Amino acid sequence: MLTNEPYYILSANLIGLAFIVVTTRGPFSYERSAGKETVRYNPGGVSTSLSHLMQKEGGTWICWGDGNNDKQHPDEISGNYRIIRVFINDRERRGFYDDYSNSTLWPLFHYFRERIKYPKSAFLMYRKVNHDFLEAVKKVYSPGDTIWIHDYQLTLLPAMIRSEIPDARIVFTWHIPWVSGEFFSSLPESEEIIKSLCTSNCITFHTELYVRNFLDSVSQITGESESVRGKVHSIPLGIDYSYYHRKSEALQRSPFHGDQKAIFSVDRMDYTKGLTSRVNAIETLLEEHPDLSGKFVYYMAVSPSRTHVREYRTFKSDLEMHIGRINGRFSTISWVPIMYMNKKLPESSLIGFYRFSHVALITPLFDGLNLVSKEFVASSRDGVLIISKFAGSASQLTGAIKVNPNSRAEMAQAIYTALNMEPEERRARLEQMKKDVSRHNSTWWIRRIKEVSRRG
Ligand code: UDP
Repeated sequence: MLTNEPYYILSANLIGLAFIVVTTRGPFSYERSAGKETVRYNPGGVSTSLSHLMQKEGGTWICWGDGNNDKQHPDEISGNYRIIRVFINDRERRGFYDDYSNSTLWPLFHYFRERIKYPKSAFLMYRKVNHDFLEAVKKVYSPGDTIWIHDYQLTLLPAMIRSEIPDARIVFTWHIPWVSGEFFSSLPESEEIIKSLCTSNCITFHTELYVRNFLDSVSQITGESESVRGKVHSIPLGIDYSYYHRKSEALQRSPFHGDQKAIFSVDRMDYTKGLTSRVNAIETLLEEHPDLSGKFVYYMAVSPSRTHVREYRTFKSDLEMHIGRINGRFSTISWVPIMYMNKKLPESSLIGFYRFSHVALITPLFDGLNLVSKEFVASSRDGVLIISKFAGSASQLTGAIKVNPNSRAEMAQAIYTALNMEPEERRARLEQMKKDVSRHNSTWWIRRIKEVSRRG
């Protein structure tokens, strides 16, 4: 239930502040069209986990007000917590978000060297917007609060807070991969960024590899990493396992038609997700196993993402060209191998796809964690998970078939193996993963973050 209460009701003591969470994207935004206001929820896994935490414990969530009607709701109470929105203009959005965050840092931290751009003045805008978030933090901070900052868009915020509130307890959680020290130092602003992150009391990543890479970067840039080693932790984000389990068990009917086996994937439209390599692997599979014609359908859901960024539009056209070519080559009068859906799926449909698909094909080229793979495990009845060895979640998902997404042959072989796997092996692999995903769920994640932040 959303309310718009006057400021005096929102005082920190009344709502019992625990965390001041700071993220770029908030839990929801307001959109106005045709004279009507609607609430758009952010379905991302991080956002959902944080919403649960805030509902339970209270606190303040500072985020970018990116909805077209958010200015009507700069400061509000949502259930048990407070939301404060930071507003930026179009020019700032381009420099901070489209350019520096998504065209410099995003490709850098996914090893896409040729896509990294260094647009003039983007970093200045990035610094300016980080400073706007600082101003918002200062307005709500009370001694004893823990300021929990998330992700690559807000790397300069820890140092800004530290210089104005020296005693602040700052936790920084990094949600994307961290690259090798050598690669990171190719960024002109690497020193300012890493020194800022190191002013946090603790820094968490989703894998041990990212922790090692981060410490390697600290060493390369500052000459030593011993002083920060104790405050850097690997704590992989977990999902609300019982929620997915419960929702999926309640489903009676499969969304898939016909008796073909269903291969399923869902991703954002992003070049890091390995989408083109994946459809090319379907082509190799059909070249090598023509008898599979008409025996399976690959349901490929790709939700629109970063549509302001030109590279994303070019990437979409290229992917669609490949899908069209492969479908044109292998379709028959009664069968199309790739059923492509370029839209955001509501959670209710998504869980049905997870539950009833025979194979989930999650093969990013690089991915900080990948929540979809965990949601599939929690919801699936007896499906097989194929996962890229470069997804952060792969090290936890021991029952999955692991592939190198750069090898068409290896991917095609993995799909063939998954389609032909005996039910007993399928169930044993899935059970093993269900145990791990349910044990390391979102409650576990938050508990671990709290433990290390108390120590830090
Ligand atoms: N998601 C969704 N509908 C879609 C696509 C994705 O609700 O059509 C959700 C999905 O359930 C997951 C999140 O968006 O919780 C994607 O998280 P992930 O870590 O897999 O990838 P990211 O998009 O953060 O890179």
